[in-house]
Amino acid sequence: MENGGNGNEAPAWRFGAASPGLEAARAQSIRALVYRMYDCLDRGDARPVAPLAHGDPAAFACFSAAPPATDAVAAAAASGAHNTYAPAAGLAEACSAVAAHLSRELPYEVSPADVVLTAGCNHAIEIMMSVLASPGANVLLPRPGYPLYASRAALSGLEFRHFDLLPDREWEVDLAGVEALADENTVAIVIVNPNNPCGCVYSRDHLAKIAATARKLGIMVISDEVYDHFAFGSKPFVPMGVFGEVAPVVTLGGISKRWMVPGWRLGWIAATDPNGILRKKKIMESIIDYRAISVDPVTFVQGALPEILAKTEEAFFSEALGVVRQAAEICYEKLRGIECIACPHKPEGSMFVMAKLDLSRLDGIEDDVHFCSMLAREESVVICPGSGLGMKNWLRITFAVDPQLLEDGLERTKSFCQRHAKIKETHS
Ligand SMILES: *Cc1c(COP(=O)(O)O)cnc(C)c1O
Repeated sequence: MENGGNGNEAPAWRFGAASPGLEAARAQSIRALVYRMYDCLDRGDARPVAPLAHGDPAAFACFSAAPPATDAVAAAAASGAHNTYAPAAGLAEACSAVAAHLSRELPYEVSPADVVLTAGCNHAIEIMMSVLASPGANVLLPRPGYPLYASRAALSGLEFRHFDLLPDREWEVDLAGVEALADENTVAIVIVNPNNPCGCVYSRDHLAKIAATARKLGIMVISDEVYDHFAFGSKPFVPMGVFGEVAPVVTLGGISKRWMVPGWRLGWIAATDPNGILRKKKIMESIIDYRAISVDPVTFVQGALPEILAKTEEAFFSEALGVVRQAAEICYEKLRGIECIACPHKPEGSMFVMAKLDLSRLDGIEDDVHFCSMLAREESVVICPGSGLGMKNWLRITFAVDPQLLEDGLERTKSFCQRHAKIKETHS
């Protein structure tokens, strides 16, 4: 009721949405930009939409979840043993399972006490960008990167600075740039490996150099390894924690990508720090304190985690990786066939690739956002404009899509580019 109660006039409501942190975070949000591309779609087009903007392979039949994992979740739910709240760090047996899972590939044992379960890897990012937000502190983030780091840092008032990934050096970290960017208030550097959005995988040698740089600067490395083992090129995946002796490493991970179940919302934060520096500096304590006042991952998924990690067979991963490798191959070859798009580095990991637009070959297209909006409208292909990642006139494309639809989407992109190509000047 507008003027129910006793007064005739509506009161001057005192609330309004004006959180400065939220305003700053919104500016970094990539979802809003991708939604704008979806808004451009022509609903009259009978062709299926080719969704090449955001990675969610679980939407396609060719990427189904591992049966032992779905069995484990069903059994955990049916058992009735996981209907309670879980401890702030997560169920003890699930933390132990993650510690054992990570330790298999490290030269030391990760303690279960150094593992905190989160509601997906995004929650792990939220927690890290919140606990590090001491007054004046700053973190170093990759460009191009995964935009949630900047959004979350902005929301918690943590200053962020971008260092470059170098396209002509297989998207390696510009380490000289990192050193130039850091100052006495820098607390951490974030890397993503295998990398979203560049599709690169860092060599052991490059990771060693990142660790040495972090040590020199006295900062921790936050290593986002949600795509761990999603490496299908010549370089194997090496966990950053291997260099935990050199500089403290916080490893972020989860089951969303490798197990193809992002909807299950289960991730983790692990201190892969054999010298116990993060513990001494009370970082782990702060992480658990933050977790205690934040959301919990669903208890029965936590309860199923030991079985999910132990029972999923290698064949499941190699099969999924085979499909993604084939899709990456299709993506790269199709992009190479489009004149106005250049792909500096063939993808060898994750589910994404960055490609550069050559606007000089296109007629009447102003920038990447304009390109993607028109492509959505005319061809029902949705691609993420690089602007959303700080890379104007680049495109971020996911290939974790049904291969047939991927091929079709990139064919349509090619005809779009041909239709809008600048007519070559002929000399008479
Ligand atoms: C998908 C993704 C995440 C988020 O993972 P969830 O477990 O689904 O929250 C975090 N980091 C990167 C780089 C990602 O691509």
